[in-house]
Amino acid sequence: MPTRESVWEALSSVYDPELGRPITDLDMVQDIHIEGSTVRVEILLTVEGCPLSHRIEKDVEKALQEKADVREVRVELGFMTEKQREALVEKIRGPQPKPRSPIMDPDSPTRVVAVASGKGGVGKSTVTVNLAVALAQEGYRVGLLDADIYGFSIPTMLDLEGPPRVFQKAIVPMEAYGVQVMSMGFLTGPRQAVVWRGPMISGAVEQFLRDVLWGDLDYLLVDLPPGTGDVALTLATKLRRAQMLLVTTPEAASTNVAQRAGLFAEKTELRLLGVVENMSYFRCPHCGEVSHIFGRGGGKMMAQHLGTQVLAEIPLEVQVREGSDSGRPVVVADPESEAARIFRHLAHQVAALTGAAPSELRA
Ligand code: ADP
Repeated sequence: MPTRESVWEALSSVYDPELGRPITDLDMVQDIHIEGSTVRVEILLTVEGCPLSHRIEKDVEKALQEKADVREVRVELGFMTEKQREALVEKIRGPQPKPRSPIMDPDSPTRVVAVASGKGGVGKSTVTVNLAVALAQEGYRVGLLDADIYGFSIPTMLDLEGPPRVFQKAIVPMEAYGVQVMSMGFLTGPRQAVVWRGPMISGAVEQFLRDVLWGDLDYLLVDLPPGTGDVALTLATKLRRAQMLLVTTPEAASTNVAQRAGLFAEKTELRLLGVVENMSYFRCPHCGEVSHIFGRGGGKMMAQHLGTQVLAEIPLEVQVREGSDSGRPVVVADPESEAARIFRHLAHQVAALTGAAPSELRA
């Protein structure tokens, strides 16, 4: 006659074909009923509509008949709840290591500033890089996380090439102009496209926050993917303590974009630091005449719409573009240019609004 032990023993020879482990190890055996030589087992499948359910059912029947001397087998299939699945993943992976970086810690003193834009090409990465370097020039300890996984441009803008050093299985950020930098571009090479879907991207960025040896930072700037779509939204919500800086150009700040940005800010619940209007005007280097190539007032309109302020209006300047292309940001390459001065002013504004003193963490 079958016993609970002999049934369990037989079931332990049935492997989940996907996870490659005995179903008894995977908490898939929910219940066992024995009545004489009839056995009824309840098996929990990991996902609903599991294409391998038939195979598992057959394997269970066979194992019980052959190994536990069961004459009649009834297999009932159920499905794991989300909670049960999470517990299973944890069981397989083992306990997760403690975050190596204090940045994920809600009590960390690091100010996280997420830089977002309603659309691509408005100069979000240029602003992030120059702001990061300007803050470092002021004596702050600054990290820059390039979360623009598809369109990373930070490595080129800072003339950095991976791979970064690995220490005790943690990635050591690369350094440029006093800024600690991490970018997907360090891992894939400059010309490779990343063709990941949203969840993988958000996982990679979470790992960059958790497993990169950031050290004690005054600021971590995060260059979000352009737009206000799902990827940007998921990432922004992961950065719970972050404050947000929105970059726009005068013409990109149409009512439509402003509304989307507003909705984005609302959904992510990130505190808005303010709006940076980039490519605001062009000052002729010969006669000094100012032209508003992309129109006027867009940044102000967006700021009003969002109930915040314009923190800087950055001119369209050849030196800014050259700085990005050559890997020497304008605040380094041409610190006396108008744009560089405005970037430094922006850094002061951000510091004033976030309340970090350069020496605060070093005292
Ligand atoms: P985004 O991150 O929003 O996609 P980028 O920072 O990559 O935009 O900027 C797009 C292009 O515009 C780059 O070639 C950059 O050098 C150039 N650019 C950005 N801001 C300025 C500026 N103020 N003056 C001149 N060129 C700029």
